[in-house]
Amino acid sequence: MSKYDVIIIGAGAAGLFCGIHAAKRGRKVLILEGAKGPGKKILVSGGGRCNFTNLDITPNFYVSQNPHFCKSALSQYTNWDFISFISELNLTYNEKTLGQLFCDQKSRGILEGLLKSIPSNCELKVSSRVNEVSYEDYYKVSLTNGDSFQADSLVVATGGLSFPGLGATDIGYRIAKQFGHKMVETTPALVPFTLENVLKNLAGVAIESEVCVGNKKFLENILWTHKGLSGPSILKASLYWESKSKVKINFLPKSDIYQILKDKNKKTLLNALKEELPIRFVEEWLKLFKLPLNRKCAELSGDQKELLVKVFHHWEFIPSGTEGYRKAEVTRGGVDTNQVSSKTMESRLQKNLFFIGEVLDVTGLLGGYNFQWAWSSGYVAAKYV
Ligand SMILES: Cc1cc2nc3c(=O)[nH]c(=O)nc-3n(C[C@H](O)[C@H](O)[C@H](O)COP(=O)(O)OP(=O)(O)OC[C@H]3O[C@@H](n4cnc5c(N)ncnc54)[C@H](O)[C@@H]3O)c2cc1C
Repeated sequence: MSKYDVIIIGAGAAGLFCGIHAAKRGRKVLILEGAKGPGKKILVSGGGRCNFTNLDITPNFYVSQNPHFCKSALSQYTNWDFISFISELNLTYNEKTLGQLFCDQKSRGILEGLLKSIPSNCELKVSSRVNEVSYEDYYKVSLTNGDSFQADSLVVATGGLSFPGLGATDIGYRIAKQFGHKMVETTPALVPFTLENVLKNLAGVAIESEVCVGNKKFLENILWTHKGLSGPSILKASLYWESKSKVKINFLPKSDIYQILKDKNKKTLLNALKEELPIRFVEEWLKLFKLPLNRKCAELSGDQKELLVKVFHHWEFIPSGTEGYRKAEVTRGGVDTNQVSSKTMESRLQKNLFFIGEVLDVTGLLGGYNFQWAWSSGYVAAKYV
């Protein structure tokens, strides 16, 4: 049985980054990846362009039962550190809205850069799905194909449950429980909402809207789908959404419907609103709430104006659910951070056992926050394995 200093389970963003830096410290590292290739989520991320970090990384952009947990790792290895890392690889990037950084050489550029950075004392084995782990003075890691490996330190970098087609398994959670760790309930997040009464005619319509969940507000596009609602505002809201709770949408966040009616009082309601919003949406929405499309704005009753305010500025609904792990960019919840050191990522219960990346109960908002967490937590663990 081959013996290593460190075995890392999972060659995603966190596992690869940890492997690179642990090996740079001279450790003999083995990364075991269940899928046929490494970094599958990196490849699909950001629509293939990898939103690898954000200019504005603060703990406020992360959800965890312990909101302080992410602070240490994010300050030990910052967004600027990762920007330097990719710049040294001659990769370039561009900023999209809200500080999101995308790689000009696309996701493949990031993955190839990571793979190129792996030192020779770090071995990467793909198609090597871990089945179980045991501990007796050292860790023994067994694969589904019967092979097994030994190491002094074990890093669990197995990610969450989303996108099972890309290799996600629950092995990380099982290992955590095996060593006595508590779990924070997992749910799909950064995921489209499903609606009971879907407005199929609206599928494909995008509207810049303000979406509100609890005290969180997001002003970006929403997108009507065949199953309900998606788009960045909705995906962000889903991170904070509790099942059966209300979501509010303001379809006209930058204008006031009373003012529109006043300014366009000679126009019909449909003609007035189609200058502000996609016509397909205006038609469907007015019909749905039995509002008179062809009545002049000046002739609308007080009740009708009130209804317009309600359905265009303060539309409230309860999603019937979400599109689940199949469509979720991330998993909210995971290994409870209270039993893990925020400074080293080492288990407080089991020596030389580390958890990094999405397997932990740290979930970032859409916008490069999840990759930054993977880089930061992976880097930190690499210093201590
Ligand atoms: C479609 C999509 C787009 C996204 N876009 C972005 C984006 O642009 N920006 C951003 O910040 N975040 C994005 N994310 C989220 C981001 O990809 C994840 O948060 C990040 O990849 C987590 O890194 P990780 O290393 O912790 O886990 P993962 O990247 O999920 O890696 C875990 C690895 O462990 C392997 N594994 C699992 N079980 C086993 C086992 N039993 N044996 C061996 N290996 C195993 C998996 O195959 C996988 O390769 C996106 C996610 C998705 C699904």
